[in-house]
Amino acid sequence: MKSLLQIAATALLITGGAACALAASQPKVIAHRGYWDSPGSAQNSIRALVKADSIGCYASEFDVWLTADSVAVVNHDPEFNGVHIESSTAAEVTALKLANGENLPTLEEYLTAAEPLGIRLVLELKAHDSLSHERLAISKILEAVDRHGLGDRTDYITFSPTAFATLVREAPAPAKVYYLTGNMIPAQVKFLGGAGIDYSFGDISKHPEWMKEAHDLGLEVNIWTVNKEADMRRCIEDGADYITTNDPETLFNLLRERK
Ligand code: MG
Repeated sequence: MKSLLQIAATALLITGGAACALAASQPKVIAHRGYWDSPGSAQNSIRALVKADSIGCYASEFDVWLTADSVAVVNHDPEFNGVHIESSTAAEVTALKLANGENLPTLEEYLTAAEPLGIRLVLELKAHDSLSHERLAISKILEAVDRHGLGDRTDYITFSPTAFATLVREAPAPAKVYYLTGNMIPAQVKFLGGAGIDYSFGDISKHPEWMKEAHDLGLEVNIWTVNKEADMRRCIEDGADYITTNDPETLFNLLRERK
């Protein structure tokens, strides 16, 4: 039979081993608006999603708005080519051409394209003009993700504190919800039920203590939008769990160097 001392020594070894494994873990690569900075691609296009998957990104981030007739569509800004999405119909919005010639996609089309891929989805719900429209957007999004069977591959991010609270409450497990702007300290995000902070490189640079605070609270840390090599290196060295970038190839190269 093992003595108490032997058991304690074994426990210490196991704990130490786990800590080493954690320290050696690498951040996961998230393509910001897909892998759009590549031939034939465009921001938030289906091609950018497929390209991000093809180079092995962990996830592809994209942005969602609701049109005036309550159709969820994928685009970053509130307007595209002068058309204001929230006050336009889906027919008007989806007639618009992205830089690569694709039509501006609906969420439906985007999720259909994602289904056969292995990549995870990081869905950003934009802060809408009214809380009621934002609330409806959340319902439409959760229903669509569920219908496509993508609930276990989709996480949510938002700048809207109201949407954050609603998504935390209503997105079914195992979805995780992250808050996007550094006006909440990690303890507040934890208190509200978030899975982590998804803050800009600028916010994290101003508050380097947040990385450890978040991890001590059991939160994950995603940093956006990290495009310079020096900044990527710093995020890696500081222990980010995820890095969101417009340049996933460069980030992959840096991560390979460190293996
Ligand atoms: Mg976004």
